[in-house]
Amino acid sequence: MDKLMKKMQRLAYIVNSLIALYVVFFVVIFRYAGATYLWKISLGALLYYAIAYILIWKKKLQAYVASLYLIIIAYMFVATICVGLNSGFQVYCLSMIPLLFYFDYLGEQLNMRKSRPILYSALIGVTYYGCTEYVLVSGSIYEIDRKISVILLGLNSLWVLLLLIFYSSLMVKLVREYERKLKEQAMVDRLTGLYNRHFMMDQLKKIDAKDATKHWVAIFDIDNFKAVNDIYGHNAGDAVLIGVADILQEVCSECTYARWGGEEFLITASNSIDKEALLERLRQAVADKEFVYEDKTISVTITVGVSSCTVDESVDRWIQRADKLLYEGKNSGKNRVVM
Ligand code: GH3
Ligand code: MG
Ligand code: MG
Repeated sequence: MDKLMKKMQRLAYIVNSLIALYVVFFVVIFRYAGATYLWKISLGALLYYAIAYILIWKKKLQAYVASLYLIIIAYMFVATICVGLNSGFQVYCLSMIPLLFYFDYLGEQLNMRKSRPILYSALIGVTYYGCTEYVLVSGSIYEIDRKISVILLGLNSLWVLLLLIFYSSLMVKLVREYERKLKEQAMVDRLTGLYNRHFMMDQLKKIDAKDATKHWVAIFDIDNFKAVNDIYGHNAGDAVLIGVADILQEVCSECTYARWGGEEFLITASNSIDKEALLERLRQAVADKEFVYEDKTISVTITVGVSSCTVDESVDRWIQRADKLLYEGKNSGKNRVVM
């Protein structure tokens, strides 16, 4: 969270400096254009941007952002009334609205107070209509040179465009990133870090659609696992599950595997991998391993059922056949591979 705060602080310094530079430009151009009120107000606004550095430095980002909104809204109002609609000051405030909601979201991540984006949006709306209608009815205070209007309209429009492009791309990036994370979380088993049943079903369906006959599927179950929990405790049982998952990853690194549920795991691979030798190696590796939890040493075995994938049967049917063989193994003494 501290990292995010530092990042926001850095961003705030950059934003503040860029806006301050823009306001310096306004001081110069309005002085040149003879808009006396406006260049003096712009000079006053610079004082705010100087003080704003202190707010950012003290990490009072919420106070900074709220005051920045107010200053920008007030500036839009005054500038539009002074130089009219042709300079485009009225539009850039509207482009702030999506950013208000984005910063509110960021504030929520940093456990800050709600920043009231709807209230500020309404304020922008009222100010926008207030100044535009005023100018349409009563005219602007200054008639500034058309060339200066063209420059200001160009710059203000550019600002709006850049802000909207920046915001839209940021939002889509954020949504993509969250979607990727959520998908990954939905596919991974939290305890073992292996993929889960949903992921495995997707993989098996892909195999079913493409080249089923070239694959096999195996399901294995830890023998007498209930007794491990009963004797050593549930946490010890969890440690054994993690240990078995580690062995699975090591021995079957060229296969696709998942925690199927409870103490059952599913493996699939192409026929180019010798299933008999591989699964026997896996069974032996688990049986040889002494799992250590706190001061206890625990040994377990596994029973494996293996079946070939076929075109004319469904994925569920492949698994049912492997499961049936697994239970044949359970009934004939456990700690074996049945195919
Ligand atoms: P069998 O040899 O026939 O497979 O006997 P078993 O005791 O392994 O089978 P049973 O289905 O009776 O017990 C499975 C146990 O696995 C029961 C359940 O509490 C335990 N278990 C399932 N998931 C977890 C888990 O995530 N952590 C722990 N510690 N235990 C789990
Ligand atoms: Mg079991
Ligand atoms: Mg079981």
